[in-house]
Amino acid sequence: MKLKRYLWITILTITVLLGIILPGRTQQHTSSHTLFQTSTFSALLTGIYEGNTNFKELKKYGNFGLGTVNYLDGEMIGLDGKFYQLKADGVASVIPDSMTSPFATVTFFKPQTLINLQGQINYQQLQQSLDQRLPTKNYPYAIRIQGNFPYLKLRSVPKQTPPYRPLVDVVKEQSIFELRNVNGTLVGFRTPKYMQGVNVSGYHFHFVTANRKTGGHILDGQFQNAKVELDTLSNVEINLPKTAEFDQADLEDSKPTEVNRVER
Ligand SMILES: [Zn+2]
Repeated sequence: MKLKRYLWITILTITVLLGIILPGRTQQHTSSHTLFQTSTFSALLTGIYEGNTNFKELKKYGNFGLGTVNYLDGEMIGLDGKFYQLKADGVASVIPDSMTSPFATVTFFKPQTLINLQGQINYQQLQQSLDQRLPTKNYPYAIRIQGNFPYLKLRSVPKQTPPYRPLVDVVKEQSIFELRNVNGTLVGFRTPKYMQGVNVSGYHFHFVTANRKTGGHILDGQFQNAKVELDTLSNVEINLPKTAEFDQADLEDSKPTEVNRVER
């Protein structure tokens, strides 16, 4: 009887230990409903266009997200575990795991809320309608809108070389594309005002077509009966670049007005 009890205790102990060890061995590092980002938006604004977090690492923190890649070589979008580079010529390509990013926001997308926006509305109205219907404005949200879009105005940015200029100067050379009656997915985030500088406060969307051939950062659009899926993110994790450029950048003087000139 006593031996049997020891045997059971041993089995139990091993089971508990495996329970602790095994999840650590899987790919997913972060619990659900976590916004994970590398670097900060204010660092990108000042011209920190090189980071040392690659997409193999980013995928451990999310299968869904947006941002850019090193040298600001286009926009970046991630969905269903695949990440795409949307270059200034409008062409989308799959990002290799070895590529690095100076700014990216990702999560494991698990929507809990669906908002149906009836009728045809523009991008401004989409943001206002969502603001009125959000459960609260105090958490960040990951947002997905899939389907057909009557009109989308997208942009992407050209690859940069050092010495890097601030983002506000670089976006003057952005390319703009207009797509009509297009199928695809919008991947976005809404972060609270108090996260200004850390991320892009308010709404920020990137788009990729259903055939994954083209896409970009959303400047404007028309939305027809949009079905908006929301994931309320109650955890935020920030990984800061370990580079000399980040180390020496002057991030004390943040310019919130620049976000509107760069991202809207
Ligand atoms: Zn963007």
